[in-house]
This record gives sequence, structure tokens and C-alpha cells, in this order.
Amino acid sequence: MIPWNFPLLMQAWKLSPALATGNTVVMKTAEQTPLSALRVGELIIEAGFPPGVVNILSGYGPTAGAAIARHMDIDKLAFTGSTEVGHLVMEAAAKSNLKRVTLELGGKSPNIVFADADMDMAIEGAHHSLFFNQGQCCNAGSRLFVEEKCYDDFVAKSVEKARQRTVGDPFDPNTKQGPQIDQEQFDKIMSYIESGMREGAQMLCGGHRWGDRGFFIEPTVFANVKNDMKIAQEEIFGPVMSIIKFKDIDEVIHLANTTMYGLAAGVWTKDITKAHAIANNVRAGTVWVNCYHVFDAAAPFGGFKQSGMGRELGEYCLEHYTEVKTVTIKL
Ligand code: NAD
Repeated sequence: MIPWNFPLLMQAWKLSPALATGNTVVMKTAEQTPLSALRVGELIIEAGFPPGVVNILSGYGPTAGAAIARHMDIDKLAFTGSTEVGHLVMEAAAKSNLKRVTLELGGKSPNIVFADADMDMAIEGAHHSLFFNQGQCCNAGSRLFVEEKCYDDFVAKSVEKARQRTVGDPFDPNTKQGPQIDQEQFDKIMSYIESGMREGAQMLCGGHRWGDRGFFIEPTVFANVKNDMKIAQEEIFGPVMSIIKFKDIDEVIHLANTTMYGLAAGVWTKDITKAHAIANNVRAGTVWVNCYHVFDAAAPFGGFKQSGMGRELGEYCLEHYTEVKTVTIKL
């Protein structure tokens, strides 16, 4: 079962390991994005797959999704989506046939900038880590921790960069940011922006609808965010950057880990010792050093804590689609 935010990629990440290890698949796509998956289904027919090997189902979560989660003949459920629904499908698996479950869920990933970093690269990287795909990324760098010594300068330049981001028609090649997926996500993001203001974060740009139709939201930057604010603890899934100040490495490790999530983390520094300290001590399935959103088919991806269980990609992923069998023969 897959979400709407990267429909083609999520489809590839699920179909490939399942088919490579010899399984047949029933794939339920997200109700917001059924079409690209159906097109892939047409190509699968054209490629000559035997009938029944890949079955693509368009349907809603509480009906089609829930029926899959409690189905008695499905051996394994690979789910990507929200942590909330992850709990539901795991419960349904437990109450039905104990089907194996792997979960790729939400995140609130820390992106940590030390004062010794290459500042231009860190500003560019932090911008990309959050605003890419309209902020609709499970691993978005949505808690941006910046060291006190460079905080004011970093915030000013990040705001400037956000202001320059081109919002508009997603079919125009010059556009950097299109609309959010639907009204529900738009409303949710706007309510988080209100919550940030109510809790005393400082909104330095954006904060409003962009234009007068569609679900466009201005690139928004909050400074003076505290790690216990709602905007720093809950997944916004939109173009809203939250910048948090820190004093030293011990404090930032503690703050980075103060979350129920553990999907990814980023660190920007020229000091390899600091980079290793963050990589070792931040509880996250992926840590990027001086880069962000870098994926490779060989590099496992997945979450600690409530960001999920199991891994996609890499060799680890294949284990979830096989069973180990011991056969002992008396000679
Ligand atoms: P969602 O949980 O609402 O939906 C995901 C899938 O679950 C959809 O196919 C949906 O139809 C289905 N579903 C919904 N309710 C269900 C129910 N009661 N029973 C069974 N199935 C149900 O998530 P979304 O809004 O489509 O996607 C956004 C979420 O996905 C974010 O939280 C994001 O972080 C997460 N995500 C995680 C990863 C990752 O790799 N960790 C990747 C992409 C997205």
C-alpha cells in the first residue's frame, strides 16, 4: 500500500523487491494518485508478465486498504504512509493472520548546521531538504537546528532564499513549487502555520495562500522555534521551515532525539569528528553529511522509532519478502 507523495517511486520501491524474490503482488495505490500506477499496469501487461503476478487496485484506505490489512490470505504487507494509519494496519494484521508487516511512516527529521559548515552549501541544502516536492516528503529536514554562532546570518539568508522561490503552474519549467496535493493537506498546513504563530514562533516570510485559486502556499519560514512546539513535533508535510537555535553538540543531539520519529537526519560541518558523532548518536535510519535527500538502490532506507520498521532498498529489503526454511534430512 502506497501514499500519494511520490506515486511512481513508491510503486517501484514496492514492486521490485517483491517480484525479484518471486512473489505475486496486490498493490493498493493512494486514492489521490491512481493514474500513474495504472499506466505502469498497462506497461506490465505489454511486457508480457503472466496474468495475476501484479494486480493493481485503486481504492480508498478505510475500505480497500483495511480489507487488505485484515485479509487472511496475504502473507506480507508492505505499507508506506502516515504513522497513524501504520498503527491501524499493524493492528489489523495482528488481529487477522499475523501477516508480516513492514512500515515506512512519517518523520520530523533534524537537519543540523554547525557554524564551521560551508554556509552557502548548508543554506542551499537546508532549503532543498525542506521545500523539495512542496514539502511533501517523509524525510523532509523539517526541524532545522542552527548553531547559535551563525544563527542570525543563516536565518536571514534562508528567508531571502525562500522569498525567491518561484511558486506557480507546475507545468511551467521555471516553477520551483506547485500546489499541495488537495484541500485536506492545504487546510492542515494552514492550521500548523496558525499554531506556530499562536505558540510564539517568529514568522519571517510566507504564511499565506499563494494566488486566489488552487492549493498553493507561500514558502514559509519560522525562526525562534522551540523543539516542543507543535510545528517542531508534528509532521506538517508542507512548505514550512522551522529553525531552532542550539548551543553545542550535546544539546543538539538531545534535541534531535526528542521526537517520536527517527526517519532521517542531516548534518552540515567541515569537522568529520562532529559528523560521526551526529551519525552515531542521532536515532535515525539515514544520516546525510553535507548533503540531503540522496538515495541509492543499494543503500537501505527506513525508520527508527515510530517512523517505521524494516528497510526498503539494499539487500536488507529482500529479507522482508522471503521466509527462511530449514530442511533436515536423516541420512
Ligand atoms: P496515509 O497513511 O493517509 O495513506 C497511505 C495509504 O494508506 C494510502 O494508500 C491510503 O489509502 C491507505 N489508508 C488510509 N487509511 C487506511 C486505513 N484505515 N486502513 C488501511 N489503509 C489505509 O498517508 P498519505 O497521506 O497518503 O501519505 C503521507 C504520509 O506518508 C506521510 O506521513 C509521509 O511521511 C508518509 N510517507 C513515508 C515514506 C517513507 O518511506 N517512510 C515515504 C512517503 C510517504
